Amino acid sequence: MRIGVFGGSFDPPHNGHLAICILACEILGLDRLLVSVSRNPFKSPSDAPDDHRLLMAGLLVTEINRSSPVATLDARELEQPGPSYTVDMLRRLRLEYPADELFLIVGEDSYRDMPDWMESSMIPQFCTVVVFARRDCGATGGGVRSHELIPARFVDFDIPVSATGVRDLLAKKEPVAHLLPRAIAGYIEANGLYR
Ligand code: ATP
Repeated sequence: MRIGVFGGSFDPPHNGHLAICILACEILGLDRLLVSVSRNPFKSPSDAPDDHRLLMAGLLVTEINRSSPVATLDARELEQPGPSYTVDMLRRLRLEYPADELFLIVGEDSYRDMPDWMESSMIPQFCTVVVFARRDCGATGGGVRSHELIPARFVDFDIPVSATGVRDLLAKKEPVAHLLPRAIAGYIEANGLYR
């Protein structure tokens, strides 16, 4: 089996996340995609509580499955006490799926930060890292390839949307419908999030 792992704080999930997941399923030929909701250690009061992030990530999974019915929600990072590290999740998945191919799917900004992650040099032992370009994250062309600690596959990608941008627009009561799956925009509205 070919298994993808896509982690994020999903605060909220947006069309960038949706497009990455759909594209990853297609180009990597995934049989499963785990959408893992992470803790946000830098949480501010304007961010959504964990239970809302989890439910919104569930709506993202439903949207992905309309196109590629392989996605499942993984809440284990949120459920375990204490900090959660990507390397621990990959170690656990490697034990669960000893004979399968694992792909860690990240955006360019995450990949750039990866050398600072806990035990990041171990990550390539557990999976293939797949990096989606992110032109709105301040990286200069090709800059993403500048660290050689963690080899990766690169996917050209250009959907300039971020959760921070969505939250900012919502706080200003500006339209966001073009940036989010409809069900997630409806959920945010119904629950009065990010106001
Ligand atoms: P924030 O603005 O709060 O930092 P975000 O938009 O980066 O949020 P996350 O949930 O932190 O959303 O992202 C999960 C993963 O998706 C990360 O690896 C991130 O780099 C990647 N990602 C999110 N949006 C994009 C995008 N538009 N293009 C490429 N990668 C993206």
